[in-house]
Amino acid sequence: MDKVMLVTGGSRGIGAATCLMAAKYGYAVAVNYHSNQEAADAIVKAIEKDGGKALAVQADVANEQDVVRMFATVDDELGPITALVNNAGIVDQPSKVADMSAERVARMMSVNVVGPFLCAREAIRRMGTSYGGPGGAIVNVSSAASHAAGGGGAGTYIDYGASKGAIDTLTEGLAKEVASDQIRVNAVRPGVVDTEIHASGGQPDKPEQAKSAIPLGRVGQPEDIAEAIMYLAEAKFTTGAFLDVDGGV
Ligand code: NAP
Repeated sequence: MDKVMLVTGGSRGIGAATCLMAAKYGYAVAVNYHSNQEAADAIVKAIEKDGGKALAVQADVANEQDVVRMFATVDDELGPITALVNNAGIVDQPSKVADMSAERVARMMSVNVVGPFLCAREAIRRMGTSYGGPGGAIVNVSSAASHAAGGGGAGTYIDYGASKGAIDTLTEGLAKEVASDQIRVNAVRPGVVDTEIHASGGQPDKPEQAKSAIPLGRVGQPEDIAEAIMYLAEAKFTTGAFLDVDGGV
């Protein structure tokens, strides 16, 4: 059976590293992106250059029609997925809760929570044995900010921390709900990783500033997280698990 993995937000950062690694594990890879087609195309090209199979597919994960279209496109071009990585996510400018607008919080929840729910729904309908599928794996990309040890986003983005807390709960609940469908659901909780997300949230220096508080003495690289994601995608007897990949914080 062909292994097919869809990585949301696969065009840059952690998602891009995961796409490249998944191809090495023998997956045909659907590289989802929101607006940066050039970056997604570059990942597809790199996979194809090494003899792998990949497809760039645009969708805003917060938009139900986009998500439905994305899965249908992947069905047609690569075949039904056997693994989903719910990776796409956003942060916003540093803000205290006292200053947060409803629009900001709603957007955060739409992309970081509603998106993974919609993608999980479409994945279950394809992978679940009760739907005629072969079973499969869902790996959710949460964050150290989801729980107290990671600070919950206090002082800068509790909306983000709360969205990742919801991902943790989704992971726990869904792992139980779809176990009999032979779908495993796990999560990685990265600490600070060197990607463009920090600049997009108005904190370009965050990796540099975070370094000194990390026991291993460095921030994570996207490949560090991709490794953990691939482990969870492949680990056949692991479900409902959280892997903290944070340098020992
Ligand atoms: P990044 O470098 O900013 O990349 C974000 C990716 O998500 C891009 O591929 C982007 O697509 C895509 N994306 C954004 N909004 C989207 C939407 N509405 N629909 C579909 N795709 C969308 O981010 P990253 O640092 O790799 O983060 C990846 C995940 O890891 C996120 O869930 C983040 O919360 C989590 N995480 C990151 C860190 C960290 O320190 N970096 C730590 C903990 C957790 P375009 O290229 O088209 O814009």
